[in-house]
Amino acid sequence: MKKLTKVMALVAALALVVMSFAGCGAANDTATTNEAAASTITFGTNAEFPPFEFVSTSGGVIDQFDGIDIAIAKEIAESNGMKAEINNMEFDSLLVALQNGQIDAAIAGMTITDERKESVDFSNPYYTATQVMIVKEDSEVASAADIADKKIAVIQGYTGEVCISDMGYKYESFKKGTDAVMELVNGKADVVVIDLATAEKYISDNEGLKIVKDDNAFEEEQYAIAVAKGNTELLDKINTVIDKMLADGTIADLAAKYAVSSEE
Ligand code: GLN
Repeated sequence: MKKLTKVMALVAALALVVMSFAGCGAANDTATTNEAAASTITFGTNAEFPPFEFVSTSGGVIDQFDGIDIAIAKEIAESNGMKAEINNMEFDSLLVALQNGQIDAAIAGMTITDERKESVDFSNPYYTATQVMIVKEDSEVASAADIADKKIAVIQGYTGEVCISDMGYKYESFKKGTDAVMELVNGKADVVVIDLATAEKYISDNEGLKIVKDDNAFEEEQYAIAVAKGNTELLDKINTVIDKMLADGTIADLAAKYAVSSEE
């Protein structure tokens, strides 16, 4: 009991010290630390989704991370006089990380869906995408109906998985796009369903693959940045920059730059 009282007294004393510093503005160190913390936007991503986010081999925009989304994140922070920090995690963990405050925003080629909207708020959309099928060059698959009895590989938690499961097809889900593509290359899967821009990157990296589209089966998707529910302050900052980057062509330029520069 006595110990507890002592601890409580210490805590109270510390609180007083902190409060007096904060009140008089004399504690420069404290003020600087707080400012530094407040001027960082922590973005969560899953750097397994080229050309939007990937781990760079040649020195990236922010640390080792590079891609369209990383450049957008940096621009959002800088335009607001802040710094972007990138927190790389599994795609599946991003929404929870937002909800528990581990990250401020999720930028991960993330499609706006009604289900996700139940747990987070989305920015204005910044990119239009669609799911496509990657198959071997000699495959006869021409539409989504053709893959009904094929071995389908998807990536866990991606909208591609949702589409295939909604179609009622059987599938195997993988943690990474590259794992699913390797399964196809090695002949263990017949088709990988994934977002178009990422599919284009994979077929340029791997010989003998092609993309098959089916716009009737796969609807258009919109990528947006997610924030915790109700975080309108950050959402306003994000939307202002996104709108500007869309209007002045920066996002289109980034999309073109990363699609081309990804080929060696
Ligand atoms: N657009 C897809 C989704 O939102 C994939 C995103 C990603 O893998 N980063 O599920």
